[in-house]
Amino acid sequence: MKVFLSGGSGFIAAHVLDILLEHGHEVITSVRSQSKADAIKNAHPDTPSSKLSFKIVPDIAQEGAFDEALKIDGLEAVIHTASPFHFNVTDTKKDLLDPAIIGTTGILKAIKAYAPSVKRVVITSSFASIVDGAKGNTWSEHTYSEADWNPVTLEQALENPSNGYRASKTFAEKAAWEFIEKEKPNFTIATMCPPLVIGPIVHYLNSLDALNTSNQRTRDCMTGKWKNGIPDTGTFIWVDVRDLALCHVLAIEKEEAANKRFFITEGYFSNREIAEVIRKNFPELEDKLPGKDVEGGDYPGKGKESLFKIDNSRTKEVLGVKFGGFEKSIVDLVKSLKAVQ
Ligand code: NDP
Repeated sequence: MKVFLSGGSGFIAAHVLDILLEHGHEVITSVRSQSKADAIKNAHPDTPSSKLSFKIVPDIAQEGAFDEALKIDGLEAVIHTASPFHFNVTDTKKDLLDPAIIGTTGILKAIKAYAPSVKRVVITSSFASIVDGAKGNTWSEHTYSEADWNPVTLEQALENPSNGYRASKTFAEKAAWEFIEKEKPNFTIATMCPPLVIGPIVHYLNSLDALNTSNQRTRDCMTGKWKNGIPDTGTFIWVDVRDLALCHVLAIEKEEAANKRFFITEGYFSNREIAEVIRKNFPELEDKLPGKDVEGGDYPGKGKESLFKIDNSRTKEVLGVKFGGFEKSIVDLVKSLKAVQ
């Protein structure tokens, strides 16, 4: 299949790109600059340009940003991963909401106008568009699934960057479903809703200082930042980046994924468990790690049973993905971080 992948320089997209190539697809990926295109190209020296090529899209928040990039004959599928995921914002609307929402509606409009051969569009949404932040992690009587929507409002979105990020994913995914309903395009969509994504980074796009957001807690743990206290904040569910990337590719390959949302999570984890996996597998990092008596990083309340419940059955049944385990994910991430250190 000929596939367009937006944001090919991203943590998740780098794995999507490799699985697309492994599955024999032809990939055209958008990045923001020629230097990022060159880095990806150089990391795939045996892949000919007939199989991997690039389009430069500097800012997806601009109306019409994808119009030129999507004029591709015979394009069959699009995977839209590009969207800001960080909390380093000065203007929530400009830095988070606009690129997420205009990026999503812009790519859908461009596909409809310029790439009529596209049959499936996969969009990287998030558990952020499912979770109800006001209910907290200990809403133990509730089971989250694809049926849930984050009720966040625009007013709440503007209160702080964390709300802003969650709202950016919620509003963008809602806009995509509204587009399908109103515009009735030639293609179907599938949305991917992962919680915290963990796993190895690709060395050619990264440094420890400029690491994607979801791997920063593992970096902080292995570099000594948690030595005197493990942070309590954050989410308690996760998925491995390779499993999530495979879900993206299966969602363009499987007819049954049409017009479905997927809540993609393997299960629960705590920050303390990150430290324990590193201790067990990397004895050379022991002096950087929090001691067993250091406080914080545990499950809230009485432990895992106090947390909200999760239903990932659609992902397993429709996409057929088997998850690879927390220990392997952290071990492979730490190995990849040591390699760029
Ligand atoms: P990264 O920060 O590694 O990737 C984000 C990608 O989006 C990069 O390619 C980035 O380009 C691109 N991008 C951001 N803003 C713009 C813009 N204005 N114009 C053009 N490109 C832009 O993050 P992830 O790989 O983790 O995230 C990818 C997707 O997955 C996002 O949609 C995110 O919301 C979603 N997600 C991630 C989770 C996680 O835990 N990692 C959890 C749930 C969802 P550049 O590198 O050049 O800045």
